[in-house]
Amino acid sequence: MKAKYDVYQLLDAKKKGLELTRPQIKWFIDQYTQGLIQDYHVSAFLMAAFINGLNSEETASLTDAMLESGAQLKFKGQNVIDKHSTGGIGDKASFILAPIAAAAGVKVPMIAGRGLGHTGGTVDKVEAIRGFKTDLNLTQFSELLNKNGVVLIGQTPEIAPADRLIYALRDVTATIDSIPLITASIMSKKLAEGANGIVFDIKVGSGAFMKTKSDAKKLALSLMQTAKRFKKGSAALLTDMDQPLGHFVGHSHELIESIETLKGQGPKDLALLSIELAAHMIFLAKKAKTLDLARDKAISTITDGSALKKFRELIDAQGGDSKVIDNYSLLPQAKAKTVVRAPKSGYLESFQNEKIGHLLIDLGGGRRTKTDKIDFAVAFEFHRKKGDQLKKGDALLTIHHHPEQKNVADRISKEMVTEVIKLSSKKIKPSQLIIETIA
Ligand code: URA
Repeated sequence: MKAKYDVYQLLDAKKKGLELTRPQIKWFIDQYTQGLIQDYHVSAFLMAAFINGLNSEETASLTDAMLESGAQLKFKGQNVIDKHSTGGIGDKASFILAPIAAAAGVKVPMIAGRGLGHTGGTVDKVEAIRGFKTDLNLTQFSELLNKNGVVLIGQTPEIAPADRLIYALRDVTATIDSIPLITASIMSKKLAEGANGIVFDIKVGSGAFMKTKSDAKKLALSLMQTAKRFKKGSAALLTDMDQPLGHFVGHSHELIESIETLKGQGPKDLALLSIELAAHMIFLAKKAKTLDLARDKAISTITDGSALKKFRELIDAQGGDSKVIDNYSLLPQAKAKTVVRAPKSGYLESFQNEKIGHLLIDLGGGRRTKTDKIDFAVAFEFHRKKGDQLKKGDALLTIHHHPEQKNVADRISKEMVTEVIKLSSKKIKPSQLIIETIA
């Protein structure tokens, strides 16, 4: 049978910057998902789309085609709200905001990712808890959501399979950081998860895919426009990723820091961001009349212990050992510590955040190849934030590593003070964590 379209002609049109129609895009994606066209066809399409852009109609058509490539969950009621972060260094807010929102009556269906490039993944981090299962199927996922109000699993083969295939190609064809392609990728998965509202945390800065505020805002508006087309409520926060969030970067230690935050003892920036994102979720779910009341509600779930209780329920429900909440030694933690000190006096000017992610990979706390096993025990603990004043010899950070990694830790120590952390003799303004809210 003759194909409906000629793949060569579609690619030629996109190369010339012409608009593709909805049926053409749907056909192209379906052909690829069914294995009827090749990786090189799709790679050419991605590069043409990257260079020439996709207009909003094409972006919508691509999102819909990718969404329709797999299963689509549906949940009744207004109160099913998800959060999506574009990812960063030390971003562990999901472990805090999901139990907060769930304790406030929101249903939180989280299908999270693994580490990607220099950024860590929520699914990898939670697997530091012995026994925690992230590979539940969609029926178990829905059942747990209805029972406990919060569930956290990894990507499943049923949700947006076209994105899984295309993402792998983008990763190796330098076509990740394109706003239309990111929009279609994120929204095809988020819409399939069946949430009725989505809160976006769009990271901006040296540790994020979006390096400038203007690009981050374009992405936020593109994601929100797609949510609106599907009659879903949404809000977007543009947040700082020019320095690590919280103090720790590394799997077990990030979990401990999250539990501390749920106990009301976490770092200020992490608590503030988690509460703010949760407040937007509570407000979208109509569990509070105003955003201020939603924020009060979020805070009260920490002070009355109900958010921590929810986190315990989540761990128990997914087969994990919830005793970790009371006994951190149940999480793998490296025994040796190397302290990195300020080479001169001054003010902390900047972090090369992306490099921090790569250095953690050097220590074993991330993957170089798909099959690498992550070492949950290693971490960087940053003692200072942007704008802080330091004296020569003050501790900048501590590397938590295994005793046999002393040489790697020494090499990383040097790179931290030469390539990652910059000190200035001039006074530096602290970073603004929440740069803009679009609601
Ligand atoms: N996260 C996604 O899921 N997709 C992208 O394209 C970028 C970040």
